[in-house]
Amino acid sequence: MPHASDNAPVPVTRCPRCRAEDIAADAHPTRILSNGVETRVYVCRSCYRPTELEYRIACDAAAIAYRPLPIREALRGLRDFYRARLDERGDPEIRSALDDVERRLAIAPVDAT
Ligand SMILES: [Zn+2]
Repeated sequence: MPHASDNAPVPVTRCPRCRAEDIAADAHPTRILSNGVETRVYVCRSCYRPTELEYRIACDAAAIAYRPLPIREALRGLRDFYRARLDERGDPEIRSALDDVERRLAIAPVDAT
């Protein structure tokens, strides 16, 4: 199917919240709660806190116990995210973001799962 972005040589991954920032090499894992269903989303740096706060409020409203996203789970998700982005475009910035996540994953405390 023809798509408007076919002309763009570089696929851009927009932050789903502000739709302004390209988060391909700088994504922050958080969650949204919609109808009691948790969905993992990746947002830009400046959208991270407001999104987490909204998630917390949504949990409250739905009487679901809020729990912080476990570090290793967050890092694993981020690793998959960057890997997928790297497949789309072999950008050295994404490569270094992925390297950074893998390094953090290697040293993250095991009991923080
Ligand atoms: Zn954003």
